[in-house]
Amino acid sequence: MKEFSIPEEIRNIAETLIQNGFEAYLVGGSVRDLLLGEPQKDWDITTNARPETVQKLFSTFAGGTADKPATVYENDFGTVGIKTRSEDPTLKVVEITTFRIEGKYSDKRHPDEVKFADTIHEDLSRRDFTINAMAIDLKTKDIKLKKDLVDPYKGLEDIKDKIIRTVGDPEKRFNEDALRLLRAVRFSAQLSTQGGPASGWEIQKETQKSIKKNAGLLKYIAEERIRDEFQKLIMTSRSAEGVFALQELGLLEYIIPELLEGAGCKQNKHHVYTVFEHNVRALEYATEKNYSLEVRLASLLHDVGKPRTKNGTGENATFYNHEMVGARIAKDALDRLKFPRDVVQKVRHLIRYHMFYYNVGEVSESGVRRFVARVGVENIDEILNVREADRVGSKVPKAFPYKLRHLLFMIDKVRHDPVHPKMLAVRGDDVMRLLDIPASPRVGEILFVLLDEVLDDPKRNEKEYLEGRVKELGALSSEELKHLADEGRKKRDSFEEEVENDMKKRYFVK
Ligand code: ATP
Ligand code: MG
Repeated sequence: MKEFSIPEEIRNIAETLIQNGFEAYLVGGSVRDLLLGEPQKDWDITTNARPETVQKLFSTFAGGTADKPATVYENDFGTVGIKTRSEDPTLKVVEITTFRIEGKYSDKRHPDEVKFADTIHEDLSRRDFTINAMAIDLKTKDIKLKKDLVDPYKGLEDIKDKIIRTVGDPEKRFNEDALRLLRAVRFSAQLSTQGGPASGWEIQKETQKSIKKNAGLLKYIAEERIRDEFQKLIMTSRSAEGVFALQELGLLEYIIPELLEGAGCKQNKHHVYTVFEHNVRALEYATEKNYSLEVRLASLLHDVGKPRTKNGTGENATFYNHEMVGARIAKDALDRLKFPRDVVQKVRHLIRYHMFYYNVGEVSESGVRRFVARVGVENIDEILNVREADRVGSKVPKAFPYKLRHLLFMIDKVRHDPVHPKMLAVRGDDVMRLLDIPASPRVGEILFVLLDEVLDDPKRNEKEYLEGRVKELGALSSEELKHLADEGRKKRDSFEEEVENDMKKRYFVK
């Protein structure tokens, strides 16, 4: 176990409390990470001083004034934030929480009341796992674990053995707050990436048994709290193991049950894994590459539509339209978990378009431009990331075979070409002025036709030329114009159709 030192800001805060006759401890995740030799995410201090007292003691801390106090009383749980003026982001605001004990839990998620407590032991007893239920007494400068570590539940031993174990009877603790079921899995994934390489943490047997038995209690927990823990799990570098553990322990059913439909769902001759395992393997790869939350979620969910679209059995089974069905299922699941709108939209889009196919020589440059226009230039990189995760998650040898590298090359070539009406050399205003017409769908229709012509040949994106075309198009009847726009739409779809048909013939995967 590494040596540890306490930063000056924390010492100063502790000393202010102690000089005023109160106790001060480092507690929870901070102590755990310190003992693991991990960098601190934040420094949590706990004290027997009540929040009002803490506010009084620290309002003028580090240059705070009566008008602009250095304290923020953040919530109902007795946590006061102290602004330290430190440059270090982990020290900017240090949270001081008053010792707390939780009353009876009748609803499996909230204590009926939160009471302030008098002793650190009481405070530690309300915490979830032994490794999170330790404190370091800050009364002396020279900290020695032997004398200063408060560890009534033998958390230090569990840290050494890499064991996640509830404080006290798991049955009781999970029944108090069922989110802890999920936190156990999240910590086992998160901590396995800390404390040196290849260090697998395990959930203690009895705790595991109790999770399995009580998994159903998760349904009492607010979706937002589940989402926060699930997201943390997905963002660890052991996300795939985490999701397998959620399945094994019976928790996944209460988070994204749609994924479980793939568990017994065999694929066809192109796949060795079941749909479920393939999805998780794709997440594993997206994680290995340190891709974004959206790419990780899209990878995990990219084939979630397969079980419901499966047709036939054995090696010739097909999954037509699974990407459309899957995009919908993913949207519903992520909405239910209250993921932010932009995250849901992005993931849905990535799944919808993960099935492109590209054959060198078969697809023209304007076809690639149309593909970029369709999926959005801002989504291209992530769509390729999901595709790469899909490939590697199928146990194929290479992330980027020649065809895909060629597509990348083509995309790079067309990346800066105009692919959106906003990128045209003429705007809606110009169309209205040139034709002397008001804002109307007709203006949009004309812009759409112009864009289509520019997608065929970006050199046409030139003001004089396009203005001429506006006048010509302006002379057409609305039927003629609609016909032209429809032609453009067909061309845009044709890239997809072409590739989809081809895919269907060759790979039976659609
Ligand atoms: P990290 O910051 O890496 O997520 P952490 O241990 O700080 O880890 P938090 O969720 O920030 O996790 O919680 C801080 C501390 O509060 C925990 O270490 C634990 O002692 C306690 N705690 C948090 N949530 C619960 C809970 N649901 N039940 C009991 N104790 C909890
Ligand atoms: Mg924390």
